[in-house]
Amino acid sequence: MTKRDKIVVIEDEADILEVLNYNLKREGYTVVASRNGEDGLDKVRRENPDLVLLDLMLPGLDGIEVCKRLQADPVTSNVPVIMVTAKGEESDVVLGLQLGADDYVTKPFSPKELLARVKAVLRRGPLRETRAAGERITRDGLVVDVVKHHASVDGEPLTLTATEMRLLHFLAAHPGRVFSRDQLLSRAIGDHAVVIDRNIDVHVGAIRRKLGRCRDLIETIRGVGYRFKDPDEE
Ligand code: CA
Repeated sequence: MTKRDKIVVIEDEADILEVLNYNLKREGYTVVASRNGEDGLDKVRRENPDLVLLDLMLPGLDGIEVCKRLQADPVTSNVPVIMVTAKGEESDVVLGLQLGADDYVTKPFSPKELLARVKAVLRRGPLRETRAAGERITRDGLVVDVVKHHASVDGEPLTLTATEMRLLHFLAAHPGRVFSRDQLLSRAIGDHAVVIDRNIDVHVGAIRRKLGRCRDLIETIRGVGYRFKDPDEE
């Protein structure tokens, strides 16, 4: 039995806070609740939690600003953040992900969905510490070997460009995690971006066509970006 994971929940709406509190505690998490951004930041600094659940629409210091300050402070920059958003806040979600948030859930969410995201983020830890993902990734008949520049579905080799290979490997190495297009461009493609088509959608479209029956492994998250399917969600 490992220590109980501690979660700071920053949420101004009392009824939502209560639902979060109840469900997280029932799962055995230690919950530290906060009703606004300033207080939430203090609590994250003081409590050194394993995870922050951060509502984006907060009075005063809003969630995006909280996210920014968490990232800017070396004491808190490694604490994973799950944003809690309302429908229609996709542009804030994109911004939050770029600022270093790890994931998000959209209200209204079921406790089951929320707990699945919480578990997934706790399991993989902070984005910045992503271990060198295995060079060879296998999943449902798909094999991606970035060193050998080889990918196949059911043993049938795929003909991927270098960019497509990099992108597919990056997504497959971070299952369940949503990335914005800009993040994919900078993190997956990086310096090569100057010489290739910067339109991520074009690359993803090409990869999907080549993946054939495995095409659905890459999910489009409307208004936000892309995600490689989390095995736990199947
Ligand atoms: Ca709110």
